[in-house]
Amino acid sequence: MNKSQNYSPIDGARTYNALRDENMIIMAANVQIIPGVLEGIMQATKDTDSAVIFESATSECDLNGGYTGMTPKDYARFCFKTASKVKLDTWVLHADHIKIKSLSEDEISGTEDLIKAQIDAGFTSFAIDASFLFDLKAKTEKDQLRDNIDITARLAKFIKKHYINDQFGLEVEVGEIGKKDTKGMVLTTPKEAVTFLQELDKNNIKPNLIAIANGSAHGNIYKDGKEIFQSAINIKLTREVARAIRKAGFETKIAQHGITGTPLDLIAKQFPKGDILKGNVATFWRNLVWGVFKKHEPKLYKKIYNWTIKNYQNDKKSKEEIFGKNGKYAIREFYDEINAVESSTVEELKQKSYAEAKKFFKAFNSKGSAKIIRDKS
Ligand SMILES: [Zn+2]
Repeated sequence: MNKSQNYSPIDGARTYNALRDENMIIMAANVQIIPGVLEGIMQATKDTDSAVIFESATSECDLNGGYTGMTPKDYARFCFKTASKVKLDTWVLHADHIKIKSLSEDEISGTEDLIKAQIDAGFTSFAIDASFLFDLKAKTEKDQLRDNIDITARLAKFIKKHYINDQFGLEVEVGEIGKKDTKGMVLTTPKEAVTFLQELDKNNIKPNLIAIANGSAHGNIYKDGKEIFQSAINIKLTREVARAIRKAGFETKIAQHGITGTPLDLIAKQFPKGDILKGNVATFWRNLVWGVFKKHEPKLYKKIYNWTIKNYQNDKKSKEEIFGKNGKYAIREFYDEINAVESSTVEELKQKSYAEAKKFFKAFNSKGSAKIIRDKS
C-alpha cells in the first residue's frame, strides 16, 4: 500500500484472467437502490477479500436515467465514492445487458453513445447483448446467429477503439435468457455457444465471458401468484457448454444471469465453479430494500407499493406478483425520497446487505480471491 492508493475499478480482463481457473464465482451485484446497500456489499467484499463486480444494465441505467433514475455517470460516481470510503481496491465496474434489439442504425449509434459514456464514466467491463437477434428460420447455427455475431463484433470493436487499453472485460450473450416457447424454456446448445465464439474469433474478438440461456430467468418468479424458489438452472447443460467451449480452445467462461431466488445451498454445492466465473445478483438487493422499507419507512413503502399497483394493475395477477415484478419502476419515481431516508434506515440497509453479501461470497467460494488478482497483476 502506498500513499497514492487507488480505489478506482480495475480492468475487467485483468480480473477475469486472474480468476479464470479458480474454483469460485465472482459475484456481480446490480445495486438499483444505493443507500446502505452499496456500502454494505463493499464492506463485506473488503472484509472477506473477495473479488466483486458492480454492474448496471441499460434498462436500469442509461443516458436518460433508466428505471433507477441513474445515468452511468451517476452509478459510477456512487461506486467510486463508496469504494474510497471503504478502501476497496479490487472491484470491477461492469455495464450489464447493453441490449440491441434491431439492426437499425439509429439504435446502434445510440448504443455506441451509451458505451462511450460508460467508458468515460470509468466502466471497466461490458456485456453486449444482441441475443434477441436470432433467425429462427435459418438452418445452420451460424446463419441463425448472423445478426448477433455482426452486432456483437461491431460493438466490441467500438469498445476496443475507445477504451484506454486492451484490458477491458467483455461479456457476450447467446440465447435470450428466460425465453420460452410452447415447449418451455429455450436453451442454448453447446454447438451454438461454440459457433458464436468461433465467429467472433474470426473478428479477433475474444470474450472473457459468455451468458447462455440455461434455464434461469431474470427477476422474481411466481407460480399461481406466489413467489417460488428458482431451481431451474440446468447444471448438466451448463457443464456441457463449458466443456465444448474449452475443447474448442477458448478461455471464455460462463456468466450466470438470474440468480435471485436460487437457494444458496444449491449454489454452494452444485453450481459448477470454474465453468461459471460470474454470477449476477440483481433483484435480490431490491427485494432486500423493500423488506427494510416496509418495516422502517412504512409511509414511503406504502406510497411505492400503491403507485406500482395502480400503474401496473392486472386482473389476472396477484398484487404480490405485480409489485414483485414492477416495483423496480418506482425507483425512479421516488428517487429523491429513497435517497433521503432516515440514517437509521440506511444503517439497517447496510447491515442487512453486509450479512447477505457475506452469504453469497461463501456460497460462491470467493473469499480471498481479491488477493489472487493483486498477486497476478
Ligand atoms: Zn441478465
